[in-house]
Amino acid sequence: MPDAQGMTTVIDVEHVSKSYGARRVVDDICLQVEEGEILAVLGPNGAGKTTLVESIAGLRVPDSGRIRVLGLDPRRDRDALRRQVGVQLQASALPDAIRVEEAVRLYASFYPHPRDWQQLLADLGLDEVRRTRFGRLSGGQQQRLAIALALVGDPRIAVLDELTTGLDPQARRDTWELIEATRARGVTMLLVTHFMEEAARLADRIALIDGGRLVALDTPAGIVRRVDADQQVRFRAAAPFDVSILTGLDEVRGVTRTGATVTVTGRGDLVFAVTAALARDGVVAHDLRIEQADLDDAFVALTGRRLAG
Ligand code: ADP
Repeated sequence: MPDAQGMTTVIDVEHVSKSYGARRVVDDICLQVEEGEILAVLGPNGAGKTTLVESIAGLRVPDSGRIRVLGLDPRRDRDALRRQVGVQLQASALPDAIRVEEAVRLYASFYPHPRDWQQLLADLGLDEVRRTRFGRLSGGQQQRLAIALALVGDPRIAVLDELTTGLDPQARRDTWELIEATRARGVTMLLVTHFMEEAARLADRIALIDGGRLVALDTPAGIVRRVDADQQVRFRAAAPFDVSILTGLDEVRGVTRTGATVTVTGRGDLVFAVTAALARDGVVAHDLRIEQADLDDAFVALTGRRLAG
C-alpha cells in the first residue's frame, strides 16, 4: 500500500542482526526501500553487505530482527518471492556445461513475464558467446551472465551483488546503462558495491555499512553534505582587486593569496557567491577550480577510514 507520500515500501528491514561464531557481522540494521528505488549498499570488504542482502533475498537466516519483501517473509515465502525477485549471486553457481543461451532461457522460464533475453544478452555484450559453455566464459562474461539471469525475469526487485567487480571499464559502463534502463522499467534494485563511483552514479540512496552497522542512509548528495566540509575555490586574478569583496560574503570563511592565485574557502553555495561577487566588481578570474568533498571524503569522515577499491 502506498503511504501518505505515495511511496510503497517494498523491502522492510527491522533490527536485523547476524553473527558468525562470536562475531556480529550484521548489527541491528534497519532500512526501508521504496518501489522503483535503487539503493546502493556500500562499504568495505567484510562490512556485512552480502550477509545483509542475502538475508533479504532469503538465502541466509538472520539471528534476530524482521525482514519483509513485498510484504512477505523471504524464508517462509521463498516460492512466492522467487517469481518477483531476481538475484545476482556473488559467486555464480551454474554448471560448467550449460551454454549461455540455455541458462537465460531456463531462468526466463521461471518467470511469468520474462524480458526479451536476446536483447538482454546483446545489451550485456554476450551475443557472440550465446553458444559458449559457462565453464569456458571469462570471469567478466560469467559476471555479465549473472546479471542477465537476475534481470531476465523482469522481476519487481533485483538484488545485484558486486555488480561490476572484475569488469573492464567499457563493460562497466554498458552495465550501468543497462541498470539505468532497468530502473526506467520501474524495477527496484538493491545494489551491493564497494565502488563509490558506481553508487554515486546509479543510486537514489546509499546505505553506508561499516563493521556490520548502518553508518548512514541518505542520498549521495545528502551523505556528502553530512561531512560539512569546507569547499575551496581557486583562481588567478587578471588584475589586483580588493579581497574584502569576498571576505564580506556569508559563504566565505577565509581568503588567501599567493602571487596572483587566490584561494577562497567556505561553505554553502560558495562557487556562485564568489563568481557573482567577482563579476559585480568586474574582476576577471582565470583557471577557476573547485574542490569539494566527495563521497570518498564522506566515507572517511563517517567511518574513519578509506574505502579500498
Ligand atoms: P561484505 O559483503 O561486506 O564483504 P560479508 O557479508 O560477505 O561482507 O561478510 C561479513 C563478515 O562475515 C566477513 O568477516 C566474513 O568473513 C564473515 N562471513 C560471511 N559469511 C560467513 C559464513 N558463512 N561463515 C562465517 N563467516 C562468514
